[in-house]
Amino acid sequence: MSRKTVIVPKSSKARSHAGSPWIFSNEIRMDEAKTIAPGAVVNVRGEDGRALGTGYFNPKSLISVRLLAPDCDVAIDAEFFVTRVTRSLALRDTVYDKPYYRLLHAEGDGVPGLVVDRFGDVLSVQVGTVGMERQLDAILHALDSVLAPKTVILRGDAPWRALEGLDCYVKIVKGTGHRVALEENGARYIADLTEGQKTGWYYDQRDNRAFMAGFAKAKTVLDAYSYTGGFGVLAAKAGAREVVCLDSSAPALAIAEESARANSVKIQPVKADVFEELERLGVAGERFDIVLADPPPFVKSKKDLEPGAKAYRKLARLAARVCEQDGLLMLASCSHNISPERFAAECAQGLLRSGRRATLIRQAGAGPDHPAHPFLPESAYLKALIYALD
Ligand code: SAH
Repeated sequence: MSRKTVIVPKSSKARSHAGSPWIFSNEIRMDEAKTIAPGAVVNVRGEDGRALGTGYFNPKSLISVRLLAPDCDVAIDAEFFVTRVTRSLALRDTVYDKPYYRLLHAEGDGVPGLVVDRFGDVLSVQVGTVGMERQLDAILHALDSVLAPKTVILRGDAPWRALEGLDCYVKIVKGTGHRVALEENGARYIADLTEGQKTGWYYDQRDNRAFMAGFAKAKTVLDAYSYTGGFGVLAAKAGAREVVCLDSSAPALAIAEESARANSVKIQPVKADVFEELERLGVAGERFDIVLADPPPFVKSKKDLEPGAKAYRKLARLAARVCEQDGLLMLASCSHNISPERFAAECAQGLLRSGRRATLIRQAGAGPDHPAHPFLPESAYLKALIYALD
């Protein structure tokens, strides 16, 4: 095989020597790697020739290589992706009785840079790296041969694609239509797979939505950063007395209302900035039995850690203030650049400053259709902390 080899010297303390699927640009011998084309499949070896795996290379990214397999000379073709998809599908099918889930979760499923969400016979495919973009034909072929989807939508619009030197597009490459109905926790939801955010729906919060809905009967609920009502609609279906969905996106709120109607329940949409609205509600003395805050990532990159941490602290303080006595508060973070420990510490500080006494009743992450790579803590990006407030 005329495949190039990337050498990782032992002295580099690369995490890949200990199982990590990422190899950083300062961990490899760059002089030799310079001649390799962006996105090319490479073998990765230690100086002693020991195989570290097969991966793909990008000279423009800080993460030079993402590993696809633990051995060298593994063929990366449609057959490789068929094996990956089949294995991921088998795992999902043992957990879920309906075909609505994240089918492939990047490193967690052995396919770095690739995310596929399944909505019955519609697939939303997100490619985030030049290495995976080069495999797109093989990927689509594999998805076709395992699942024969009616519709396939490519979401090539993640902001980090630019860092990889990739262009931005959203395309329907098979079938027609982009609005789907999906089922989750026994509720029906609508998702818009071309206009919506990310792949169109956030399956990662499925278990946390069910947990919170378990408390919702006859309660008032504030679903802050509601997007299309993942939490709020389920809480309403579980018998909540009043559900406010708060988001800055009018199209997302319109879909939340549609989803509510599909379940014969009501939500109250409020289009506003969450920080401003929480300030206003706090001053006005408004209180909710259950407060949910599931914001967009506040720590988008490592350099945002301090301002992002401060924003989580402030959100915790403001959200606690509008939480009723003996109420419940869920604070979530989807930033992979803040550790669970730091996030929990910031939330604790915010709660302290709110003057409320809180006990942590549940610490959770994403569901099993978002598997984490055991040597890549960043892949367990979702953190949800649920507090009971006195
Ligand atoms: N909880 C949702 C997912 C939230 S995604 C679910 O279960 O599906 C984050 C949401 O925050 C997006 O819908 C985005 O429109 C919204 N958002 C981002 N910044 C905001 C702000 N400053 N104020 C209000 N909403 C905001």
